[in-house]
Amino acid sequence: MKHSEVIALRKAFNSVKERQAQNPQAFFEERKKKLMATRELCVGNDEILSKAIDKLKKNGMKVHLAKEGNEAIGMILNELGEEKLVVKSKSNVTKEIELTKALEKKGLTVIETDIGDRILQVLKASPSHPTGPVTHLSAKEIAKGLTEYYGKPVKDDPEDIVRIVREDVISSLSEAKVGVTGANAITAEEGSIVMAHNEGNIYEVMRKEKHIVVTSIDKIYPDLESAMNMLKILSYNATGATIPSFVEIISGVSKTADVEKKFIKGVHSPSEITVILVDNKRSELAKTNARELLYCVGCGNCLLYCPMYNTIGNEFARGSNLGGKGIAYHSLYNNEKDEKLEYCLTCGKCRENCPMGLDIPAIIKRIRSSGLSSDVYYFLKSHMLWLYYQSLLRLRSE
Ligand code: SF4
Ligand code: SF4
Repeated sequence: MKHSEVIALRKAFNSVKERQAQNPQAFFEERKKKLMATRELCVGNDEILSKAIDKLKKNGMKVHLAKEGNEAIGMILNELGEEKLVVKSKSNVTKEIELTKALEKKGLTVIETDIGDRILQVLKASPSHPTGPVTHLSAKEIAKGLTEYYGKPVKDDPEDIVRIVREDVISSLSEAKVGVTGANAITAEEGSIVMAHNEGNIYEVMRKEKHIVVTSIDKIYPDLESAMNMLKILSYNATGATIPSFVEIISGVSKTADVEKKFIKGVHSPSEITVILVDNKRSELAKTNARELLYCVGCGNCLLYCPMYNTIGNEFARGSNLGGKGIAYHSLYNNEKDEKLEYCLTCGKCRENCPMGLDIPAIIKRIRSSGLSSDVYYFLKSHMLWLYYQSLLRLRSE
């Protein structure tokens, strides 16, 4: 990652920390304990998963359980039928299964509707934070890329950038008949899909004629109360706000029985909701001593404090798996000792700042214990420490 991108990243990280400082962490201590208890209960729990699936079906939704990514893509293609345009919102699971790439290969156009994700898509860049994907890019760099893509001048002014990208997204939203979203939680008691957002785009995407929800089996929560508890913690740790601007709770399709009690679906939209629950080795991981990786709520707070991420940014990542947690997950998923694991300083800053207290350095140590030789490891570690201190010195002199 370029030095200017690291500077922009740290600036963005500092503003999240400042917002967090306005809401003391102590407020969340009880909530964190409750969240941990629900994650321990639900991860790898087939009974709760089956209960959620049954309830979603009873609520009139189609549900598919996909063992792995390609199977999920096949199911989504099947649901899409002849459609050629898809609008979608931010979803880590669709990134994981590389849905956009797969759909584009089949000739479909996929438009990201989250402003940050659409900018990444247009600039063909990599994300730098799970909830703030373009935090490493300055307005100047973004404006340059957009000017080339749209073939008209875009000012390096955040308002102008958002206006132009928004216009682009709105035109696709009005044309598309299918919307794909992720989900922050699926609740077993109610059979509800819970989605949080700040931009308002999910509201538009989920109201297409057909709504496809692509999420993973570790997003199951016992009930709406526990899902809301998770959302508060997620929001605080991701942005510093105690609750996102919007929380959507979907428990069925658009319907009415107002005229002679005749049941009519799709009065407005959607008339069809399909939920794809992706396993992708999660049920295997849940049985190992790294199961706590599945407790992660994807807030990205660990990245704010990770010295390595603050030094080399998304080079301390593997694809869309960011930071130490992401690389550990990627290694376990692929059953290989990723050399990027050796970048980790095992300093524990991620664990201290993780709302779930995930012991990422311990997991990393376990994975790499039979990896590179200790000579290689100590060389890499001292090289990374040197890089980190050099970058601190450069920052101080600017
Ligand atoms: S232990 Fe590793 S992943 Fe965690 S903050 Fe330190 S360098 Fe980053
Ligand atoms: S590891 Fe912890 S801090 Fe990092 S994204 Fe997951 S829940 Fe958040």
